[in-house]
Amino acid sequence: VTDSDLERIAALAKATLATRPDEIDCEEWLARVAAYLEHRGSADPLPPELQLVANHVEICPACRAELDVLAAALDAERT
Ligand SMILES: [Zn+2]
Repeated sequence: VTDSDLERIAALAKATLATRPDEIDCEEWLARVAAYLEHRGSADPLPPELQLVANHVEICPACRAELDVLAAALDAERT
């Protein structure tokens, strides 16, 4: 792998990111997870901003684990 290969890969990665502007990062996810958990159990369809929360845990194992912990804590509180 040459330097120019690395540059091409970096540019490609940037372009790929740019084509997915609706993806949120972990910080943004954390800011929305409370609303997402509140929405659980509701019959309403997920609003787009909460759909992004669901999408993020599909691609981010760390946040997936965090969500499990938070959901379990909430469920323990409710029962
Ligand atoms: Zn994450």
